[in-house]
Amino acid sequence: MRLAYLDWNATAPLRPEAAAAMTEALARCGNPSSVHRFGRDARRALEAARAQVAALVGAPAAAIVFTSGGTEANQLALRGITGRRLLISAIEHDSVRQAAPAAIVPVTRQGVMDLAALERMLAADPRPALVSLMLANNETGVVQPVAEAARLAHAHGALLHCDAVQVAGKLPLAMERLGADLLTLSAHKLGGPQGVGALVAAPELALAALQTGGGQERGRRGGTENLPGIVGFGAACAAAAQEVDGYAGVAHLRDAAERRLTAIAPEARVYGGDMARLANTLCLGLPGVPAATQVMALDLAGVMVSAGSACSSGKVRRSHVLDAMGVPPAEAESAIRISLGRSTGPADIDQLVEAWGALYARRQANAA
Ligand code: PLP
Repeated sequence: MRLAYLDWNATAPLRPEAAAAMTEALARCGNPSSVHRFGRDARRALEAARAQVAALVGAPAAAIVFTSGGTEANQLALRGITGRRLLISAIEHDSVRQAAPAAIVPVTRQGVMDLAALERMLAADPRPALVSLMLANNETGVVQPVAEAARLAHAHGALLHCDAVQVAGKLPLAMERLGADLLTLSAHKLGGPQGVGALVAAPELALAALQTGGGQERGRRGGTENLPGIVGFGAACAAAAQEVDGYAGVAHLRDAAERRLTAIAPEARVYGGDMARLANTLCLGLPGVPAATQVMALDLAGVMVSAGSACSSGKVRRSHVLDAMGVPPAEAESAIRISLGRSTGPADIDQLVEAWGALYARRQANAA
């Protein structure tokens, strides 16, 4: 059976450049902390990867703290910056939502952080704060007003953390222009390996390590570095940087999918469709048909998509993102996420439309 992978926001296929860099690193021995030549070679590879990751986001290499992924980087940001109250948007990834107790800043019905509410919440309490706002949502793709939120945060003496996991490689990123003090990245969303990521935080920013030990990563993250993963991450960042300007082209296929699916089922809903969105993401609800039913029917036809946020242990549960946007629960339970990538082609979209259309036709026939 032909397979159509349309779940790139969950994980992207490994780029050949990343695989090659990792294979080479796996064949070499050396701890970056050792002073002998093998150690120095490993250190050089580590620092070269650091420079590649930093270049993708326009940050100094010294600001990169390698972690085990986006989840750990988010935890490090929210728990490693101490003595500040936390304000997070209602649509953050669970790794932010569960990092520490936080006040929740609401979003509009379009899925964008309510900046007036943020300003009120910042003004209401003089204690220093840390605001966490993702750059684009993993379920709807809706891009968030991070630069404006950073300006508000700074005006009130707050810091801003931005989870840019879904944006790196999809839109050009310049940390300074964004105004973020801390930024989260994950390798496997941009064609690097799973289990590696980074928190970007200026070296002078006081950041308490969650994991202490050998003093690696400037004392911000102890433990021998995952060198094969990190060089794969670096190679993926370098390759993604080459392609980022052309990435918006994938919107043609996404828009075609959206047009064709909503033509089949006029009652289908597109969440975040009228906002600035990632070019590859389509969050689609079919009221009355549970997301799990759609995901399974598509999978049987070789089409892989996810229900709500796929990052959460294979369980299908109602999306807190759609809840926060005021989508009625029964409707939110029918939402699937279709996410495309650089190698998605028209045949993948044809396969999706055919399989989803067949499911819809069966439901209509049963209801008649
Ligand atoms: N933040 C966002 C927005 C995500 O989509 C994800 C993964 O799904 C993460 C963080 C977690 O990243 P990782 O899988 O590298 O732990």
